[in-house]
Amino acid sequence: MPTPPLITDVFDLVLGRTCLHCQTPGPALCPPCLAQLRGNTRPVSIPGLVVPACAATDYDGIARDAILEYKERGSRSLAPMLGRLLADAAMTVARPQRPSDCVLIPVPSHRYAPRGFDALGSVARAAAQALTRDGLPSRVEHRLRPGPAYLPMKGLGRGERQSRITGAFRPMGRTRPSPWDEFALLVDDVVTTGATASEALRTLAAAGTRVSGIAAVAAPSRGTRGTIHAPAQPRCRP
Ligand SMILES: [Zn+2]
Repeated sequence: MPTPPLITDVFDLVLGRTCLHCQTPGPALCPPCLAQLRGNTRPVSIPGLVVPACAATDYDGIARDAILEYKERGSRSLAPMLGRLLADAAMTVARPQRPSDCVLIPVPSHRYAPRGFDALGSVARAAAQALTRDGLPSRVEHRLRPGPAYLPMKGLGRGERQSRITGAFRPMGRTRPSPWDEFALLVDDVVTTGATASEALRTLAAAGTRVSGIAAVAAPSRGTRGTIHAPAQPRCRP
C-alpha cells in the first residue's frame, strides 16, 4: 500500500523537506507545481505499435526532476504525485475505449534496480487509486518479470535498445488468456523509443494478455507526438 498523500505531507513537513522545484516547505512536489504538470496529457507515437499510447507530460523541467529524484534518489513521497500524472495518461487512453474497470501492468525494473524499492509499482498503485477515485475502478497486476538479459538502457538509441530488449522479459503470474472484457494497460514512468513497451506487449501477448494501450508519466517531446481518436461518448470522468 502506498503511503497516503496526507501522511506523506506530514512526514515531509516534520523532516523539513521542500518542493524540489519551488522550494516551498512540504512535499517534494507541491500541489501548485503538480498542477502545472497536469492537463498536458498527449498521445505518443511508437513505430509499429497498434495500440494507443499516452504520456501525462513532457520529460523535461519539473517532470524530469521529479522522476529522477524519485527513481535515483529514492524520494518515495513523490509516488502519489507521479501516480496522479500516470492516472491522467491512463484515463486518456481508457476513455475512448469505455472500459468498466482497468488492470495496470507495470514494466518490470531491470535486475540492477535497488532492491526493496518497487519504484514503478508504487507509482502504478497510486495511479490505480487515483483512477478508481475518478470513476474507473483499477488495480495493479505484475505480469512481467525481468529476464537475465534485461539491463539498463539509459543513453542508448532505438536500434541498440531494440537489440538489447528482445527477449528481455518473462511472463509471471497468470498466463492463461485474458477474459474477453478485460481492459489492461501497460504502464511505465518514461516512454522513450517504445522499444521496451513493444517487447513488453509482445511478451504479454504470447502469455495471453491482450493490452489495450500504454500510459506513461512522461515522454520526450521531440518528434513523438501522434494522434488518438476522440471518444464517441466518454463514460469515465476525467
Ligand atoms: Zn513547488
